[in-house]
Amino acid sequence: MLPYATLGEAEAALGRSLTTAEALWFRYSAQIPDYLLYYHNILFLFIIFSLAPLPIALIELGLPAAVSPYKLQPKVRHPPGSFWRCYKDVMRVFIFVVGPLQLVSYPTIKFVGIRTGLPLPSLWEVAAQLAVYFLVEDYGNYWIHRLMHCKWGYEKIHHVHHEFTAPIAFAAPYAHWAEVLVLGIPSFAGPAIAPGHMITFWLWIAIRQLEAIETHSGFDFPFTPTRFIPFYGGAEYHDYHHYVGGQSQSNFASVFTYCDYIYGTDKGYRYHKAHLTKLKEQSSDQNGEINGFKYNQKSE
Ligand SMILES: [Zn+2]
Ligand SMILES: [Zn+2]
Repeated sequence: MLPYATLGEAEAALGRSLTTAEALWFRYSAQIPDYLLYYHNILFLFIIFSLAPLPIALIELGLPAAVSPYKLQPKVRHPPGSFWRCYKDVMRVFIFVVGPLQLVSYPTIKFVGIRTGLPLPSLWEVAAQLAVYFLVEDYGNYWIHRLMHCKWGYEKIHHVHHEFTAPIAFAAPYAHWAEVLVLGIPSFAGPAIAPGHMITFWLWIAIRQLEAIETHSGFDFPFTPTRFIPFYGGAEYHDYHHYVGGQSQSNFASVFTYCDYIYGTDKGYRYHKAHLTKLKEQSSDQNGEINGFKYNQKSE
């Protein structure tokens, strides 16, 4: 809730006119308590995970000829029931674990100093903080994910996420509730280290979820803008991790590729890619598949 009763008071406090975005924020948030602004995240999570995977799921179910060359594991066709079961399981974890965690974690948001007032952050500040959040989360997620692949972690917890050896967009957060909880730590570490505005926090949660949905989409579309992000892993990179399954000791990172490169856990993937490229060169068919994996993708 903003400490100004009117736009005029806010402008007097800032010593300047409000920008259009700040005036909009004032009108929206002036009377809303800060904890309710934070709880918007719960709503965003439900909306994003219900709507964003839907077009990809419809594409996968219909699989028009125009997009089939971009399906990463073309031999695997999930029945409609598995999409619904996946969605229901994810929603159950959201309702009973993620939602309640968000409800009780509001004091932490206040403690680390995430603000809701004016002025709004500049685009530069938002971009810099999002970059920090992604780097911190990627690093923490890498090590937690790698630990989850030890015998105990995999058998007790992480095997649930690997039920989909060919991922679908709805399966991005499909995991044991304990894994969802633990992976919340690196997601929150960035905002705790570099606290920003509530809008930046909303953006962070939303963009990170959309990234996970894209990574699990099962398609490697050539027109995704994420291809231009340096060291970005993407769908093909993480699909390989699911394709190999529980034995996988490759491609643990959630967003970027540099952790796997630095710690040497991309060797299996690089060997696989080199092998596919070699077979592709030997083959007259330039749009085929080997062992159920497409080889008409971008070459390394
Ligand atoms: Zn894994
Ligand atoms: Zn995954």
